[in-house]
Parts: sequence; C-alpha cells; structure tokens
Amino acid sequence: MQVRASIGTLSQLGIRKIAMLAEPTTVYILQYAANGCLANCKFCPQSSINNASKEYVSRIPWPVISLNDLINRIKEQKSFTRICIQSVVKPGFEKEILEIILKIRQHKIRLPISIALTPVESSILYAYKENGVDYIGIGLDAATPEIFHKIGKPYSWNRYMKFIDEAVKIFGKRKVVIHLIFGLGEKIEDFINTMKILYDKGCEIALFAFTPVKGTHLYNLPQPKILEYRIVQIARFLLSRNAREIPDIEFLLQALLTSGCPGCNRPFYNETPSKMYNYPSNELLKKDRAKLINELSNALKMINLEKLLR
Ligand code: SF4
Repeated sequence: MQVRASIGTLSQLGIRKIAMLAEPTTVYILQYAANGCLANCKFCPQSSINNASKEYVSRIPWPVISLNDLINRIKEQKSFTRICIQSVVKPGFEKEILEIILKIRQHKIRLPISIALTPVESSILYAYKENGVDYIGIGLDAATPEIFHKIGKPYSWNRYMKFIDEAVKIFGKRKVVIHLIFGLGEKIEDFINTMKILYDKGCEIALFAFTPVKGTHLYNLPQPKILEYRIVQIARFLLSRNAREIPDIEFLLQALLTSGCPGCNRPFYNETPSKMYNYPSNELLKKDRAKLINELSNALKMINLEKLLR
C-alpha cells in the first residue's frame, strides 16, 4: 500500500534529508489518493478541485512511500511519541485506515494513534478505538457555518456537529481534537465563540493559521495578522484550562505552543522561521521570548478577552 508522509517525518526517519529547526514528535501519515481527495475544500491542495501539487498539505511536502518501508523505519526510531493518520475522502478510505492501523500493530509498534477524519459512521469509530486509536482529529476547519459553506467543506455544519458529539461519546472528553483554521474571513469574536461551544461539548482544539498554497482557490487570501492569531491562541489556552482570567505573561507564553493531541507539534506546518504562528518546541519559544512577550501584551490591548470568554 502507498501512503504519504510529511517531509519532516521522513527526515526524522532518515529517509530524506532536510535541515530542521525543530524535529517532529509525531509520525505524520497521509492517505494517498491518485486523483486527489473528493472533498471540495478550497484551501487544501489535496482536494481534486484544486490545481495544486498533490505533494503538499499546507506548506509541507508529503512524498509518497510504501507503508511497509515506512513501518520498518518507525520500528527503529525511538524519538516519536505518537502516530497521526490523516484521511482523504475516496472510496473505501475508512477501511484503508483500519488496514494501516492493523499493519502498524502487527509490527508491534505500540505508539498511540490519532486519526484525522471527516464524518464517518459510528461503527467505524468503534473499530478504530478497539484497535488502539486514542484520539480523533476532526477537520471542521471553519469557525462559522457561513465560512464552512464558503470554503466548500463536505457534508453540512450540522452533520459535523452530530459527528463531533458522537466522537466525544465514544472516545471521551478532550479526546476529540477539532482542527480550526484562523484567517478564513471570520471575526475574532465568532471564532472564540465557536471555540467555547466546542470546549463545552468536551472537545480539545488544534489551532491552525490559514496558509495560502499555490494552485488552490484561496491562494490570494493572505495569512492572518500575527496579533490577531495571538488573541485566539490566548483564548484557546484559557478555555482549554477552563480559566477566564489572564495569567502572568510569562506563563501565557505556553499558549503559543502547537495545540492538538498529546505529542503533536507539527513543525512549520503554517509557519516560516520569520513568521511563527505555532511554536513546535519550548527551545524556539525561549529564543523569541522578548519579542513574544511584547506581542502578547499588544494583543491583549486590542480586545477585552476576559469579557469575551465569560
Ligand atoms: S492534532 Fe495533530 S496528531 Fe491530532 S489529529 Fe490533528 S494533526 Fe493529528
């Protein structure tokens, strides 16, 4: 079976060589679809509606590799803490994911597994759980039903909400991680409000900064302003801790680390060394400490966050 793996994963496994400022702590695998994904998401190079290279998701190349070769290398590498399998929509994709999970387990790889999914039947979720999947990622991506519609997400907003509830019921609270992209044209207030709703449902949130990719319908949309992104990072950090008051700014620096499943750091998925949205490591965070403290205080001056979070 052929799959894709992120270039950072392949580099960490010694299959490709790239210079890395931060190592991925998760093995990132993406399903392979010869004709692209059947969902019509306008921002995603994997979608068959976009004329973009299918080697990419966001800024990152994902070369094709045989699953067997990949698994043999994972067995030898001890630095990873998790495996993430990202799905595409194609006939039989749910079953193929199960085959990938079973193959990984047959080789006695015991790392916890996350699956990033679009809505599927509950029986599929149970089958994944029975085979050692502990976290489910859901690419809701849009923070409002209007943006959801505008960017061409598959199914409906309501279908996603039902699927999210079902996934929380099956996997448990904070084990369902909703991927949300900031910078698709939504208001900060609406974005924070949806995060509140999702935390109330028992989810966790993985924040992404919109990244235009060549050949996609949204290529001309700019990336979000850094201070606005800092605001949603602070809001997510507080909601995740069920806190409503702004803590000491040194502590708040932790809000800028990549959010998601335990062990997921997605190095440079949306960022370049000169424009860091999510920080993949504490080392890089410390290096930019002075600049970031300044950004955080300026971001907090822009909005009454405590009032918004109430
Ligand atoms: S948060 Fe990270 S590990 Fe979890 S599903 Fe999303 S990309 Fe995968």
